Amino acid sequence: MPELPEVETIVRQLAKVLPGRRVERVQILRDNIVQGSPANLTRSLEGAAIRSVTRRAKFIVVELESDRVWLTHLRMSGSYRVVKNGGDNDSLPVYTRATFDLEDGSRLLYVDPRTLGRLEIIPAVDWAARAARLGPEPLSPAFTAAVLEDRLAASRQPLKTFLLDQRRIAGLGNIYVAEALWRARLSPRRRAKNVGPVRARRLHRAIVEVLSEAVGGSGTSLGGTYLNFADADGDRGDFYEALNVYDREDEPCRRCGGAIKRIVQAQRSTYYCPTCQR
Ligand SMILES: [Zn+2]
Repeated sequence: MPELPEVETIVRQLAKVLPGRRVERVQILRDNIVQGSPANLTRSLEGAAIRSVTRRAKFIVVELESDRVWLTHLRMSGSYRVVKNGGDNDSLPVYTRATFDLEDGSRLLYVDPRTLGRLEIIPAVDWAARAARLGPEPLSPAFTAAVLEDRLAASRQPLKTFLLDQRRIAGLGNIYVAEALWRARLSPRRRAKNVGPVRARRLHRAIVEVLSEAVGGSGTSLGGTYLNFADADGDRGDFYEALNVYDREDEPCRRCGGAIKRIVQAQRSTYYCPTCQR
């Protein structure tokens, strides 16, 4: 569930504390959160110095001095927490799946109720090859209306499916696709190649606007007791109140008053207003 704005929020916080630090000790509490061998991940990280923390698509990318990359994909419910003064295993929050003790005494926790997130260590060159296959970053200068228009024209997929495809545009997921399409007044069912230049420009603007605003609001948190998203300080995102269609089935559209509809596309819920999204 964490999408570009939520991952970006966590990355900006981790980038303030991790670079320049060394990882001293790693505990993997649930093996299935590791892609590949947990022992290998532990071995590669213990003693490793961290060079940088960045985001690409929905990946948290931690570059190590050893020219390896520590990747995290949060999937549905993963998050990181930073605990300033270490702490012991008795005081761990529920659903902590891994701990990373840093040389300065602080501790990074990986928390994931559903354990669908994945942590992985790969050589930097392999990551570069993988990252090259991802689509442009929607908040970068590489993502222009012309780029979007060309990609749309080449696809027969429905807009919803097209926008979720990380090889076409990186970082969008179910929430922000729904919100961008609502803003652009486009139906999620419309075929990509039938969008055309005028509507493509509208969609481009809507994607950039909704993501920029959500990053400014530190992302969207859904749910009550167990949030799908909290940042590295354990705080909620503020963007939920600003959602216009996502999670609003049967509620009135804020633009035309029509009822918001929920349909299922590619096994995922799609929310939209059939009255004003064409
Ligand atoms: Zn409407």
